[in-house]
Amino acid sequence: MVLERQREPLQLRDLPVPEPGEGQVRLRVLACGVCRTDLHVADGDLDRPKLPLVLGHQIVGVADDGRRLGVPWLGWTDGVCRYCVSGRENLCESARFTGYDVDGGYAEYAVADERFCFPIPEGYPDLQAAPLLCAGLIGYRSLRLAGDAERLGLYGFGASAHIVAQVARHQGRRLFGFVRRGDEAARAFALELGCEWAGASDELPPEELDAAIVFAPAGELVPAALRALARGGSVVCAGIHMSDIPSFPYELLWEERLVRSVANLTRRDGEEFLALAPQVPVRTEIEVFELERANEALDRLRRGEIRGAAVLRVLGSEHE
Ligand SMILES: [Zn+2]
Ligand SMILES: [Zn+2]
Repeated sequence: MVLERQREPLQLRDLPVPEPGEGQVRLRVLACGVCRTDLHVADGDLDRPKLPLVLGHQIVGVADDGRRLGVPWLGWTDGVCRYCVSGRENLCESARFTGYDVDGGYAEYAVADERFCFPIPEGYPDLQAAPLLCAGLIGYRSLRLAGDAERLGLYGFGASAHIVAQVARHQGRRLFGFVRRGDEAARAFALELGCEWAGASDELPPEELDAAIVFAPAGELVPAALRALARGGSVVCAGIHMSDIPSFPYELLWEERLVRSVANLTRRDGEEFLALAPQVPVRTEIEVFELERANEALDRLRRGEIRGAAVLRVLGSEHE
């Protein structure tokens, strides 16, 4: 399923099976998660994709040698820049991203730099594993950057929050969920996942929060979350794109409150999270679409209609 031009639907195309280059593995794709970032690429919010492009950076596939591997968003780094050499390869200035700079997993085959692939933990079926690779990974990094906050707010209850909630409960944190006003299904989902309170994102929780993670791409949530914070608390913005943040009184930031973003992932995040997920154990709730229905999956995600994570099932021609 190929993005030929931004703001146009993906097109079903027959592509040659890709040949792995130096250091790359070829994967027969089994499943690929659909991420909000894919929407930002398709919709033109992120404006420098390779075109034409195969989207998708939560790939579960089988390598030519039979190993089951996962391919995340971070597809390649130079290993030599000031960020790479200081353990911050997520900030590498030359980084290449899967399903953005290089073709991703909305396809029957993909190639990936082996050094950036992860073994998929045993016990996870292919479809359920896919959302771990970005929703889970970036969510985990966001949670880590929220520090040791005991009272944690999650703004936007999509794919990432539904995984982070499980990890955070496992760590003994108290959870407060924030959803779009009137979205009763999302509110119920937040409560099911262990939030002790869930309400509209412009509401104040019953207690102050030590940290909040903003998953929804809506800038007005930043001052809303700041308003809910205790002194010294942090707002962590987990998405790659957000609408403009409205101006707000300095008073909301005063008393050492902090606003920060989370960018990409390091391989260490991946190793830590994929080791932790089976221990929690994280169970992903998924809605499955056949590869050919990728446009429908994106549309439903855009409208906020997916419960948990959307995942494309890739059967491949040999199964037909
Ligand atoms: Zn670098
Ligand atoms: Zn993603």
